[in-house]
Amino acid sequence: MTMNRRRFVQAGASVLAGLSVPGWHGPLAAAAGAETVVFRNGVVLPVDAGFSLHAALAIRGNRVLAVGSDEAVASAAGRGARVIDLGGRTVLPGFIEPHMHFALLAAFGHTEDVGPFKQPTFEACLKALRGVAAKTGANEWIVARQFDPVLLEPPRELTTRELDEISKDRPIFVLNASGHIAYVNSKALALAKITKNTPDPKGAQYGRYQDGSPNGVLYGVIAHLPVMLLNQAIVKRMKTGFVDAGIEVGEQAAAHGITTLCDMAAGAFGAEADIEGFEKMFAAGRMKSRIRAYLFDGKAEEWDKVVAKPGYGDALMRVSGWKMVVDGSNQGYTGRQREPYVGRDSKGIFYVEPKVLNEHVLIRAKQGWPLALHGNGDAAIDAILDALENAQRQGIDIKSLRCRIEHCSILHDDQIARCKALGIGPSFLINHVHYWGHVMRDKVFGPKKVQLLDRCGSVEKAGLTWTMHSDAPVSPLSNLHLIRVAVVRDLWKEPDTILAPQERVGVEAAIRAVTRNAAWLYHSESEIGSLEPGKLADLVVLENDPRKVEPRKISEIKISQTWMDGKQVYGS
Ligand SMILES: [Zn+2]
Repeated sequence: MTMNRRRFVQAGASVLAGLSVPGWHGPLAAAAGAETVVFRNGVVLPVDAGFSLHAALAIRGNRVLAVGSDEAVASAAGRGARVIDLGGRTVLPGFIEPHMHFALLAAFGHTEDVGPFKQPTFEACLKALRGVAAKTGANEWIVARQFDPVLLEPPRELTTRELDEISKDRPIFVLNASGHIAYVNSKALALAKITKNTPDPKGAQYGRYQDGSPNGVLYGVIAHLPVMLLNQAIVKRMKTGFVDAGIEVGEQAAAHGITTLCDMAAGAFGAEADIEGFEKMFAAGRMKSRIRAYLFDGKAEEWDKVVAKPGYGDALMRVSGWKMVVDGSNQGYTGRQREPYVGRDSKGIFYVEPKVLNEHVLIRAKQGWPLALHGNGDAAIDAILDALENAQRQGIDIKSLRCRIEHCSILHDDQIARCKALGIGPSFLINHVHYWGHVMRDKVFGPKKVQLLDRCGSVEKAGLTWTMHSDAPVSPLSNLHLIRVAVVRDLWKEPDTILAPQERVGVEAAIRAVTRNAAWLYHSESEIGSLEPGKLADLVVLENDPRKVEPRKISEIKISQTWMDGKQVYGS
């Protein structure tokens, strides 16, 4: 650990000095003697500035060599190149997933998904949990993930009442899709020594029955993490097994054509141990997706001890920014709003008061951190913009940092103009529209305010560099699905309803959002995000051109091959 700590300082410091140049690393020449692969007879969309269209592409080693007609690329490639006949298939830059939670996917990836996309009713979910219990050994924890009461029929929470019927003698731990809430049985509460007399932890809450005894719902990571960490199987996966579990996450990504994953709260479990884990994944030589890490502000003290710097790492794994969480979630009524939620007195909550936010933003912006600020409600977004404008007034060039607002769910015209002035990239959790849209309209915002949800169309028109994400495990990894939702905006529960149709974008704009735009927001545009000569050879081969299929079918397009760093990592 000491060795790594030293490197963490040195490499970061040298890169910080180069922050003012566009892109932290310029393109390098491909190594002489490296293998040349030609992809021909297809639809090659390099996602360059003009969204040009070609038939062929060549890569040499881990770099793009040429893009153009079959003839031009063949001549650039020269003799001895390996040739792949695309047979009309489409090549795009490898997809970028700009906001996911790596450790959660790694820790729970092997557990059963009992969420509403798999089990749409409460009863079906219970049945799936009984199935998990039947498969679990006598001395093991019964663990499942993705439970989401809001989307279930009927919408209902799991408590000790239901979970004790599944098992009384083995502990049960079910993680909510958001990762913020967990549901446990009486056995787990007993192991964790949580009783009627246990006070709520600071900043979190134990759900309780009327008599004050805990009902098994643990609200907030601070409430559920100590219980989760009693399960030695999870602890092992997080610590010694993190490398293998992480490589599995890379495999999932490759299967979706994703060649760069952004861990949007790196260190939430282990601070620098997470970064070391990432490095070991690449050192093992089996990691199939690049990583960009935004350090979690909740671990600021630990990060400060290792003097973490923006830009630490290399093209495979790089520390790219700093993540702060300003409010909660809109569907959980904890996103902070200008006006109260529909039919409620509450405006939601600030996780960080604006005054404190101003201070934290100033400190990290001064250190040169590209900031990713989680803001769901419109008042939270106001506070974020205030803090960034304040930093700008103090002489910090905010525009050069390429800051992002994560989720950026409810956005007014005045806020779009402020984002534009500060060069901020909204990063939308676009699946909010598809999966939660009916809840947002009927129970959270009402029909008028819901028109301001995930305004891809408006920010595209305004000329902002925006992106979109799955927030996996909150919604499933799949960039083709993100593209489909941005283009169609239909509702999962009401397929004929289009939510805020004025905010739809064209397929090309949606593709740009999860390739070129995302790369720019990481200061990685000289390496990834488009297939231009000299850039890294990250690409996906799709069975069909997303611009040519019925938009609702975009998510069903088969991923034929994925290549990362010049190597095929998925498909045959
Ligand atoms: Zn997130």
